[in-house]
Amino acid sequence: MKTKRGGSSFNSLNSKRKLESIFLFTTGKCNAKCAMCFYAGDMAKKAPDLSFEDIKKLSETAGPFKRLWLSGGEPTLREDLPEIIEMFYRNNHITDINFPTNGIKTDLVIDWLKRIRRNCPDCNVSISVSLDGFGETHDTQRGVPSFYRAAETLKKINDNFKDDGHVIKNIATVITKYNVREIIDFVTWVYGRFNVSTHTIEAARGVTREEGVKVLTETSLREIQDTIAPFYLLYAKRIGEGMNAIGRGLTKFFYVGLMRAMYNIRAANLDKPSCWNMDCTAGETTLVIDYDGRFRACELREPIGNVKDYDCDVQKMIHGDAMKKEIETIGYGYKANCWCTHGCWIMSSITFNPGKMISMLFKSNRETKRLIRPIAVNEEALRELEAKYRIDRNKLEKIGLIPSSVETAARTGVA
Ligand code: SF4
Ligand code: SF4
Repeated sequence: MKTKRGGSSFNSLNSKRKLESIFLFTTGKCNAKCAMCFYAGDMAKKAPDLSFEDIKKLSETAGPFKRLWLSGGEPTLREDLPEIIEMFYRNNHITDINFPTNGIKTDLVIDWLKRIRRNCPDCNVSISVSLDGFGETHDTQRGVPSFYRAAETLKKINDNFKDDGHVIKNIATVITKYNVREIIDFVTWVYGRFNVSTHTIEAARGVTREEGVKVLTETSLREIQDTIAPFYLLYAKRIGEGMNAIGRGLTKFFYVGLMRAMYNIRAANLDKPSCWNMDCTAGETTLVIDYDGRFRACELREPIGNVKDYDCDVQKMIHGDAMKKEIETIGYGYKANCWCTHGCWIMSSITFNPGKMISMLFKSNRETKRLIRPIAVNEEALRELEAKYRIDRNKLEKIGLIPSSVETAARTGVA
């Protein structure tokens, strides 16, 4: 399937504040045991997931909105997820789906993506596979052996949706005590081995399953972000391939600017809350629904009710007294002083503060320009990293991430 790139989040900017995103925790089940999981405590309650009928009522009452952010638990463990997505597409005319996965269920991810593309043809799907480090590091952090499986999932996503501009391919990495020492090498390797549109890194947040995994400070996070800044220029070029000069220029300006702006805000809020210099629009433009029906204005704030107490009617929830009080309490972030590092809300809020956004974009582009340095991501460098971190190249070969040694030997005369 070869299609033109769909309208991305970056070119649907507007300042009119209304419900724009629903964050749906699809299930409280997970097949991993990540050390840095901030939702482990919620999942441990083992409450039943919302039923399809409950979610149907939510969709029927939400009205049109743009983005459905899936979360969990592991979304692929919810068997009726494709039907749920299709229902939001039909009823609510969603244009963007954010689909995070730990990548363990490779074939299911591919089957579901094909189905979503077939049945929701105008929708962009941002598929984000978690990959936290090289081989054993990833497996230790994730609590289950899944590095090669996640790598295979990424390879198959690329094989199946290479030219499909509606499928945006991402890798997400959370920095902890396990991977912090190899993170720069890992960012280099990921760029060289996977044909993805972006690789986001973030510091572990919230109350983590394992104590002591959060090791970054504002200073150390800024150092990492500055070191990897040149990669965002490379990713911008990759996204802009096939566009005309104006398209490439605009892509670079928005992509580099938004990534740097988000990273700046995140770093400034790591040690202590620090004003974003723009309104946080949580509650006005976003609604979070937990797997068991509790709902919130924002993932990092306490639940303010349960959808079942509102007949699963989204209008009653977002216009109800509890939500009004919560928005008043947050006071666009300034009153609650709960400024956080959460990228989803930072990005969402940036788009609703257009004046601030433009000045941030110019500043962020200027900063990134100063950080540019030559980057060598060639086959030799990638092989060295694979040797250094004891990556099983036979497995990479089997997955198809590297050419087979027989082919290489035939081509070069060297095995
Ligand atoms: S971080 Fe995600 S994949 Fe890991 S245990 Fe938590 S819900 Fe599961
Ligand atoms: S600043 Fe952060 S924690 Fe506070 S409401 Fe906004 S997104 Fe939530």
